[in-house]
Amino acid sequence: MPLPIVSVSRAAAKVTVPVNKTRDKVVAVTRFEQLIEEVRACRACADLPLGPRPVFQLSPTARVLVAGQAPGTKVHASGVPFDDPSGERLRAWMGVSREEFHDAGRVAILPMGLCYPGRADSGGDSPPRPECARRWRVQLLDQLPAIRLTLLIGTHAQQWALGPGTMTDRVGSFRTHLPERFALPHPSWRSTIWMRRHPWFEADVLPALRAAVREALA
Ligand code: SF4
Repeated sequence: MPLPIVSVSRAAAKVTVPVNKTRDKVVAVTRFEQLIEEVRACRACADLPLGPRPVFQLSPTARVLVAGQAPGTKVHASGVPFDDPSGERLRAWMGVSREEFHDAGRVAILPMGLCYPGRADSGGDSPPRPECARRWRVQLLDQLPAIRLTLLIGTHAQQWALGPGTMTDRVGSFRTHLPERFALPHPSWRSTIWMRRHPWFEADVLPALRAAVREALA
């Protein structure tokens, strides 16, 4: 019988945890909740321009993991991951509705850096804070035993999971990472320029991505 679900929406995180009366699972749920509280309270990067505000969406029952980069200013303000034009583009690529995407029991969203990192001199956002993944990522991924498919969004998530390489090469050879991982560009406005240069992405990669997401969520 499926576990009952308790959903807790918070400003900085949406957390969904299963309720189970067996001792082992209660211990596991308790550890999950403790860890989430520790992450939400993290103030390790004291110099963040807008201050620490970890934004993520996790549940031990999630089947698809969206491994992104870091929140932008809009997401920092709302506390909802991918609550911006990049999120609209990513949901269209995946073929899921906003409701499906934010169903924490099915989709986990864990960027490489959990807080807005500030602006780079080049004009875009700075890279995710590297200490964030070192501090939290393995612990949090350990709490996601049901993940079937991980979407590696952009260079930082791909390097962490796959090692050195270029984003375009990894996306072009996406089949070599299936069925567990799927490499994608970051869905920022820059991706529209990249897509014009690489028409195979829309023709070949997106249909395969939608099929992989459907299969993982089924
Ligand atoms: S970016 Fe990560 S390590 Fe830094 S304050 Fe935020 S949650 Fe903590």
